[in-house]
Amino acid sequence: MAAQILDGKKLASDSEKEILESVSVLKEKGIIPTLATILVGDDPASETYVRMKQETCKRVGMESLAINLPKETSTEELLLKIDELNNDKKIHGILLQHPVPNQINERECFERISIEKDVDGVTCLGFGRMSMDLSAYGSCTPAGIMRILEFYDVDISGMNAVVVGRSPILGKPMAMMLLNKNATVTICHSRTKELEDHVRNADLVVGAVGVPKLIKKEWLKKGAVVIDAGYHPEKCGDIDLDGIEEIASSYTPVPGGVGPMTINTLILNTMEAARKTLN
Ligand code: NAP
Repeated sequence: MAAQILDGKKLASDSEKEILESVSVLKEKGIIPTLATILVGDDPASETYVRMKQETCKRVGMESLAINLPKETSTEELLLKIDELNNDKKIHGILLQHPVPNQINERECFERISIEKDVDGVTCLGFGRMSMDLSAYGSCTPAGIMRILEFYDVDISGMNAVVVGRSPILGKPMAMMLLNKNATVTICHSRTKELEDHVRNADLVVGAVGVPKLIKKEWLKKGAVVIDAGYHPEKCGDIDLDGIEEIASSYTPVPGGVGPMTINTLILNTMEAARKTLN
């Protein structure tokens, strides 16, 4: 049987229509869902990601407030800006674009974002709550992956899931989300021995390493669910997807798989954060 394409692009586009409707209901009640984006410096990739997030806000009728800070910004200055946004009732979500310049203590700045506005799921409190299966906005890329798996009815329970990568925004929260859905989870990283053997044992693989095509298709188990979170300028991901249809039962394409769902999840979370202010 042909492998199923887990089409994140279509899913995100369908979701945008629903968000648009929810936003117009909120607007009738006097609430304009608003995302503040903070960009420090002028890294071209970060500029592109922030612009894409702002454009998505526009498409669904939400507002975005763009805060562009110079690359010399200090931790203290950034913390003050975050405080200001935390206290601004018109702002429902705060996105601090990662990575920030080296002189800034990124973790300290993430932690300053109030939990109600942590729509990108970057705080330790948000991570802890999500890990305990309590209500929280999970980190957007893994949360977007979980939405893809749910939409396509992938039954994760009991699967051997291998997450390659352990970053705070991707690999670690991904592992906890899969665990919460009863997968048996292995987390691999740069010190893992025999990566290939772990991948061979996986019913579900998540590539989250940041190295183009690091995970070879020959390593994959026949019938595995293949999730590629990577995206590189050469338009490939972290998994070698050439000919993947003959091996996987389902897979996320690159581009058009995980990426669109990351932004969509951020926007969905911002809309939810705005809705919660009604209560
Ligand atoms: P990251 O912070 O650089 O983390 C990479 C992880 O991969 C680390 O845990 C590292 O291990 C591990 N790793 C690196 N080389 C390895 C190797 N040879 N074997 C095994 N593990 C290895 O990256 P990230 O932010 O998590 O991003 C990962 C990928 O996802 C990138 O391709 C990025 O572009 C993509 N991404 C996509 C989206 C999206 O919206 N689609 C969002 C975020 C990220 P150590 O911990 O031991 O160093």
